[in-house]
Amino acid sequence: MGPLRIAVVGCGTAGPVAAIHLARAGHDVTVLESADDPGPVGAGIWLQELGQQVLDGLGLLEPLRALSRPVARVGAVTVRGRQVMDFGYADLPGAVPAIGVHRGVLFSLLWDTLGGTTAQVATGVDVTGVRPAPGGVMIETRGCAVGPFDLVIGADGSRSVVRDSLRVTVRDKAYAYGALWALLDDPDSLAGDALYQCLDGTSRYLGVLPTGEAQASIFWSIKGRDMAAVRSSGLDVWRREARPFLRGRYEPLLDQVDELLEAHYRDVVVRTPYRVSGNAGAVLLGDAAHAMSPQLGAGTSLALADAASLCHALGEASDLATALARHAADRRAHVRWYSWWTRLMMPVFQSDLAPIAVPRDLLASPIGCIPWVREQMVRQLSGGQTGLVERWVLPGDE
Ligand SMILES: Cc1cc2nc3c(=O)[nH]c(=O)nc-3n(C[C@H](O)[C@H](O)[C@H](O)COP(=O)(O)OP(=O)(O)OC[C@H]3O[C@@H](n4cnc5c(N)ncnc54)[C@H](O)[C@@H]3O)c2cc1C
Repeated sequence: MGPLRIAVVGCGTAGPVAAIHLARAGHDVTVLESADDPGPVGAGIWLQELGQQVLDGLGLLEPLRALSRPVARVGAVTVRGRQVMDFGYADLPGAVPAIGVHRGVLFSLLWDTLGGTTAQVATGVDVTGVRPAPGGVMIETRGCAVGPFDLVIGADGSRSVVRDSLRVTVRDKAYAYGALWALLDDPDSLAGDALYQCLDGTSRYLGVLPTGEAQASIFWSIKGRDMAAVRSSGLDVWRREARPFLRGRYEPLLDQVDELLEAHYRDVVVRTPYRVSGNAGAVLLGDAAHAMSPQLGAGTSLALADAASLCHALGEASDLATALARHAADRRAHVRWYSWWTRLMMPVFQSDLAPIAVPRDLLASPIGCIPWVREQMVRQLSGGQTGLVERWVLPGDE
C-alpha cells in the first residue's frame, strides 16, 4: 500500500502510539483530540512487560524508566491484618517487573515524540461520529466535517463515539464500582516497590501504587453513585474511614491526600473492531475496542499492543481490508483473555457479593504458596497471555 490519509481520533495512549508509527512509515496522519490543551493528567498506572516492549520499539522505554519506579511485588491484606496475597515478579524466572508511572509522564513522552513527526495534531476538536462518503470516510465534529480519509482510527477511549458510529458494540456496561484516587508526594518512598492493597470484604479496598519518582497513587474503591457524597463530606471524614486501611509505614501517606478524583470503569466488547467500505475503513484501538476494569493493570498494555499490531498489519498487507482483517484476527484471543479475566476478578474485589470475600481471604494465601500458582499470577499480570500457557507475540518479534 502507498501512503494513506489516516485520521486518529483521540490522543491518549493508543492514539499517539499509532500516529507516531504511521507517520514514521510515511502515511499522511492527522490526529484529532477533544481536549483543548492536552496535558500530563491522570493517576499512576501499572505498566506491564508487554506495554514496556511496545514502548521500547519506539525508543521510549528508557526515558520512561528514568521517570518511573519498578513495581516488583504485589501484596494484599485484609483490614484485620490477614495476608491474602504476596508474590513478586521474581517468582517467575525471566519475568520483567512492572513499572509504576504517572499517566501524565507517559503522555508527555508520547506527545513530545508525536511532535517530532510529520503528523498534524488538532486539539479542541470534539468528534461526534464517522460516516462513509465518496472518496473515503468523513469525520463529523461539533463544527464541521473533516476528510475524507482512507482510514479512521478510533482511539477515543471507553466512551468512543467512533465505536457508536460503526455499530459494532456487543456490550457496553458501566461497572457499579469505580475508584476515588489521588496522586501524592512520596519523597521517602514509603510506597516502596510493591502494589499494596488492603481489603474489607468486596465493597471496600484501598490500593497504593508507587508512581514515578517520589510519588505514589492511592485508589479507594467505591460505588460510582457514592463518590459525590464522599467528596462533598470532606477529606477528614474520608481519612477517618480510610485510616485502618493504611497502617504501618503507609500511614503518613494518608495525610498527603489533598484531593480525591473520580475514576469510572466500563466493560466494553465489540463484535469486530473494524469496518471497511470500498477502499476505506475505520478501526478501533484500546479502550474504544475493549474497555475493562483495571484489576489486572492491563489496559495500557493492551492499548499499546493494539497500536503496534495495527501498524504492523498496515505495513505488511497489500490492501486495507486485508490489513484490518489481519489486525483483528491477531488481537482477538489476547483481548478476549484479559476481558474475561478482568470480568472474573471484578466481583472478587469490587462488588456487592460479600460472601466471595470469605473463601478469597481464607484460600488465596495458601493457594498462593504453590509455586505454579505464583508463576501463573506473574505470567498473567505481565500482560502478554492469550491463555494459561499461550502468549501473544508482538508483531515483528515472532
Ligand atoms: C483508575 C484507573 C486506573 C487504571 N490503571 C491502569 C493501570 O494501572 N495499568 C494499565 O495498564 N491501565 C490502567 N488503566 C486503564 C488505562 O488507563 C486505559 O486502558 C488506557 O488509557 C487506554 O488508552 P486509550 O488510548 O484507549 O484511551 P484513553 O487513554 O482514554 O485516550 C482517549 C483519548 O481520546 C480523547 N477523546 C475522547 N473522546 C473524544 C472525541 N469525541 N473526540 C476527540 N477526542 C476524544 C480523550 O480526550 C483522550 O485523550 C486504568 C484506568 C483507570 C480508569
